[in-house]
Amino acid sequence: MTTATVIGGGPAGLIAAEELARAGVTVTVYDRMPSVPRKFLMAGHGGLNITHSEDLSAFLDRYGTAADALAPMLDVFGPDDLRAWCADLGETTFVGSSGRVFPQSFSANPLVRAWLTRLRDTGVRLERRTRWAGWDDDGELVLEDADGSVSTVTSDVVLFALGGASWPQLGSDGAWVGAFVDRGVRVTPMRPANVGLRVDWSEIFSERFAGVPLKNVALTIRGTSTTVRGDAMVTRTGIEGGPLYAIGAAIHRALDDGECVLEVDLRPDLSAEQLETRLRRRRPKDSTSNWLRRTLGLDPVAAALLREAGPLPGDPAAMAVLVKTVPVPVAATMPIERAISTAGGVAWPEVDEALMLRRIPGTFVAGEMLDWEAPTGGYLLQASYSTGVVAARGMLAWLGDHGGR
Ligand SMILES: Cc1cc2nc3c(=O)[nH]c(=O)nc-3n(C[C@H](O)[C@H](O)[C@H](O)COP(=O)(O)OP(=O)(O)OC[C@H]3O[C@@H](n4cnc5c(N)ncnc54)[C@H](O)[C@@H]3O)c2cc1C
Repeated sequence: MTTATVIGGGPAGLIAAEELARAGVTVTVYDRMPSVPRKFLMAGHGGLNITHSEDLSAFLDRYGTAADALAPMLDVFGPDDLRAWCADLGETTFVGSSGRVFPQSFSANPLVRAWLTRLRDTGVRLERRTRWAGWDDDGELVLEDADGSVSTVTSDVVLFALGGASWPQLGSDGAWVGAFVDRGVRVTPMRPANVGLRVDWSEIFSERFAGVPLKNVALTIRGTSTTVRGDAMVTRTGIEGGPLYAIGAAIHRALDDGECVLEVDLRPDLSAEQLETRLRRRRPKDSTSNWLRRTLGLDPVAAALLREAGPLPGDPAAMAVLVKTVPVPVAATMPIERAISTAGGVAWPEVDEALMLRRIPGTFVAGEMLDWEAPTGGYLLQASYSTGVVAARGMLAWLGDHGGR
């Protein structure tokens, strides 16, 4: 009997378990939570954007520096394969207007129910409330039950799919990093990705405008050519939203370099000259708010954002420039606990092309615990699935060559 241990019952671990079980391997999945896959189910609350329909080269670009490493994995199990897998579980998918792909039910629940049933029917054993606590001196996996009892487990191959460190209440808390580093595995420090930004708004602004979107703005990181467009949401302590997540890596770089100022273009469809022409139509009795609303169509949140930047210029040319480049200094990103995903993780040189740890032959890693990041849009789940499938096939190949550890 050939045996595999999978630690972590998120999408990466479960898809690997499915591949292994289908190939006749006896698989046990351990997860510290009472039910799985919690983060996947939480993603379902937002409609479960499971992958994206854009062409593969644009798709890969979303992974930035990890694109080269992930390219062969998306070849093995790409967006079409993921959609076919959903359909096979009874959930057809559709492409939304943004190109994002969702299950018809717009929920993760039917998919998870069908998946867990199929896993059970294929013979996958799922041990919940069991935490992997590290390796013992012989290199065996140490497991801790909910009641605190500790045991070790041995199998022919091992997969870690422990996830990142965001939303730790859903299970993945990043506590695995210490044990990996102790074994000599290099782990790129984890940091929040797809996360809101902290801005020190005035009290009056945050009280009045928290929860109000800045619609159709362009955001540029000062001193760079990194620009995005879309809607950004003002929060009590900052600003968040998809466009900001898309430039998250560049925001981190600017913060690391000492300063990150977002320049908000409140009217990206008009040039500064066009704005100036309109602003010159000020009526003598216009208050500043009326002037901005009447000539430029700025809503209250946009006008208040201008005020956050300091005293407002009365000169049309200076006002036009300000409207195109309202400075918003970013104090920090929100903490990792509030991030949708995690950047950093097991460094790529630590794994071979089958995702086996070079230092621990027979032990593989997959999913968000690897060192990649991507914006929201279905890229996170896609990479989790793709790496899970690649790791499982690598485990099967390893078993074929070695017959176990
Ligand atoms: C609110 C929210 C919404 C999201 N929406 C989307 C979306 O729409 N589209 C998208 O592509 N992505 C989305 N994501 C991200 C996506 O859910 C993750 O990228 C994905 O779940 C990662 O899969 P994974 O299997 O690598 O890790 P996880 O799903 O995090 O699973 C890891 C598992 O390992 C277990 N574990 C961790 N440590 C231990 C241990 N020591 N012992 C035992 N078990 C352990 C955890 O309990 C967990 O079950 C969202 C995330 C959040 C938080």
